[in-house]
Amino acid sequence: SLTIGIVGLPNVGKSTMFNALTRNNVLAENYPFATIEPNTGIVPLPDDRLPVLAKLVNTSKIVPATVTFVDIAGIVKGASEGEGLGNKFLANIREADAICEVVRAFENDDIVHVNGKVDPADDIETINTELILADLQTIENALPKLEKDLRGKKIEPSYLAAVQKAKEILESGRTIDEAASAGEIDKADVYDLHLMTAKPFIYVFNVDDDELSNDELKAKLAASVAPAKAIFLNAQFEADLTELDEADAREMLADAGLEESGLDQLARVGFDILGLQTFLTAGEKEVRAWQIHKGWTAPQAAGVIHTDFEKGFIKANVVSYDEFVAAEGSMAKIKEEGKLRTEGRDYVMADGDIVEFMFNV
Ligand code: GDP
Repeated sequence: SLTIGIVGLPNVGKSTMFNALTRNNVLAENYPFATIEPNTGIVPLPDDRLPVLAKLVNTSKIVPATVTFVDIAGIVKGASEGEGLGNKFLANIREADAICEVVRAFENDDIVHVNGKVDPADDIETINTELILADLQTIENALPKLEKDLRGKKIEPSYLAAVQKAKEILESGRTIDEAASAGEIDKADVYDLHLMTAKPFIYVFNVDDDELSNDELKAKLAASVAPAKAIFLNAQFEADLTELDEADAREMLADAGLEESGLDQLARVGFDILGLQTFLTAGEKEVRAWQIHKGWTAPQAAGVIHTDFEKGFIKANVVSYDEFVAAEGSMAKIKEEGKLRTEGRDYVMADGDIVEFMFNV
């Protein structure tokens, strides 16, 4: 499954945030026999629709979609040259499908900052420079073979040109993700290089309570990483929240003037940048959100439930979440009003489709 790697300088609050995340681990609940690596957190994708559906179909079992985070050891200057846990660190990042960069914005004289001062822009530059240098190394290593392949007509000149373009972008100190957002390069053209900075980035600014309510500061920080997504949270506050039961946690959030926990926001944004979406099933056994890639067709979605469903796919009976709720979950009413759609093999799934698959065995 797709994973998001958490990176950041030492002492920025990564462990605090990761531990809070894993306290939400859904794995133990839904997959009691699965093993989970200590550096992996599998957290529920928050979805307000699921309890509504559960009530309508009268079940108590809810299985949410999940988002997987991997805690990657702290990065330091020189990691691309093997400094600190350099090589291991880079190998772990290569395996992740998206990068969540935790950046310290909170001030606390008792907690030493590795670079001596709290400076988010400087921290981002330190980390991104290491990733950029590692990507440049990857390109340097690949170029001699690519040039040979071009002479042997095994690759197109346009591919080498795309690699050269990527090299120029990295040499100018920018990530491929940044340049791709600006329309300067198409990530797909250099996909084969598996560059780290071509992964989608989310920035998590670990802030103090007063910073959390400082809209001007947040706008400034968000602008500094745009169009990449920025999330603001207080890691210590998030950790405290996970200690509470649901009602108390909701009260603590409300007292802080927040609608949603930072970790829930992170899960939602993370799920989205991984290119995932959900479809839903609702029956008396359980209500469940299934994760699929955006753009997947009905048979592909069916295959997530069971490979036989994909092989023997006949059709999908689909109703939208809103229509299901409007009909108070009554299939009779949904059919009567002509709201049940029959979709075939080419149907592209929409987020929130409530589906029943018909298949041959
Ligand atoms: P890591 O090295 O990035 O994993 O950082 P840690 O999670 O170990 O945090 C380093 C120190 O900063 C610990 O003493 C934390 O309690 C403290 N800390 C983490 N997050 C916050 C925060 O949001 N606010 C404050 N004031 N302290 C924090």
